[in-house]
Amino acid sequence: MVKYKMVPEILKMMGNLDQVRNIGIIAHVDHGKTTTSDTLLAAAGIISQKVAGEALATDYLEVEQKRGITVKAANVSLYHEVDGKSYVINLIDTPGHVDFTGKVTRSLRVLDGAIVVVDAVEGIMTQTETVLRQALEERVRPLLFINKVDRLIKELKYTPQQMQQRFVEIIKDINKLIMNQAEPEFRDKWLLDPAKGQVAFGSAKEKWGFTIPVSAKKGINLSHVIDAYNKGKEAIEELAKEVPIANSLLDMVIKYVPNPREAQKYRIPKIWKGDINSTIGKAMLEADPNGPAVMLINDMRVDPHAGLVATGRLFSGYLESGKEVWLVNSKVPQKILQVSLYMGPTREVADRVVAGNILAVLGLDKARAGETVVDVAYKDEMAPFERLHYVSEPVVTVA
Ligand code: GDP
Repeated sequence: MVKYKMVPEILKMMGNLDQVRNIGIIAHVDHGKTTTSDTLLAAAGIISQKVAGEALATDYLEVEQKRGITVKAANVSLYHEVDGKSYVINLIDTPGHVDFTGKVTRSLRVLDGAIVVVDAVEGIMTQTETVLRQALEERVRPLLFINKVDRLIKELKYTPQQMQQRFVEIIKDINKLIMNQAEPEFRDKWLLDPAKGQVAFGSAKEKWGFTIPVSAKKGINLSHVIDAYNKGKEAIEELAKEVPIANSLLDMVIKYVPNPREAQKYRIPKIWKGDINSTIGKAMLEADPNGPAVMLINDMRVDPHAGLVATGRLFSGYLESGKEVWLVNSKVPQKILQVSLYMGPTREVADRVVAGNILAVLGLDKARAGETVVDVAYKDEMAPFERLHYVSEPVVTVA
């Protein structure tokens, strides 16, 4: 594992929930979910050049790209600065295909916001609709990225006006879904307004893109984009430097996805069926770091070095090595061997991880994805997030 300077500072930052966001990317198959994740990771894979020094950041990406680990990680943590303030964005993997086993819902449950990626040519498709509906059901706030805008230029030869018209249609379609499917208290707040920077347009593959506020600030519009495509590769690369899509997406996430504490106040009553007025219920509503530990595991996989790794979200309390916990569904106690936070796609051991964060835990070898983990002292009181039926399900092995 590549080591970095400044890791303690980043670990500390994750203890301050104002600086944390938990998100996912959802999309119809082939619309660009993986390409968007990779672009974000390449641009913001935890250690900014400012933090780590240019050489280290480059080494890091080379190592990771060679290992090809990016698309396989359960979680990647991204580092981004807005107005001089630093943030960690946990990008949690969501299954690429709609399935009927509850895996999509399970992964949505641990995140608070989602970037909906839509192919500019294809528009909203059945899976866009399905996953967006599932996200809204879990009270996950949607934001929009209209991807593959290059296709409108290269394949359809659209003018800027026609491109704009296409964007308007897609935004209208998404807003119609939000209007029909979000609960009334979120509907108006969550309808997407491109003028506020809640929609990004661009190409994940060619790494450029912007929101309306970014376009105004940088003085770059769709005519400039068309010019760049007429000029060729170098001009497109220049465009990607001028308006990197990663920046627009991460700015959007920091501004519009609530931090974990704000989100848990309205999400817990929806995603957890236990008594909200109990000690555990109140602690989860507040993301209280001193409350009983409660973690929802959304991913179990085998790491060749570390063994079985459980990834999930801590909704309340803290976890550290040596702590005794209870697996609510499998009804067994287990001892935590190690807790770590994601640094880019790799993990860094932490002394203690507090509520609101996405973490990796070693020692929970009796658990499987979907399991609820609770402080052993509360074993008789905890209602699970999900009732699991224990049939054997193979865990994923990461090479
Ligand atoms: P996923 O199934 O949603 O994860 O989609 P992928 O990220 O694997 O992308 C599907 C295909 O679309 C791949 O061949 C990508 O290279 C391509 N793709 C992704 N982003 C863009 C883009 O911005 N423009 C174009 N033209 N193709 C793209």
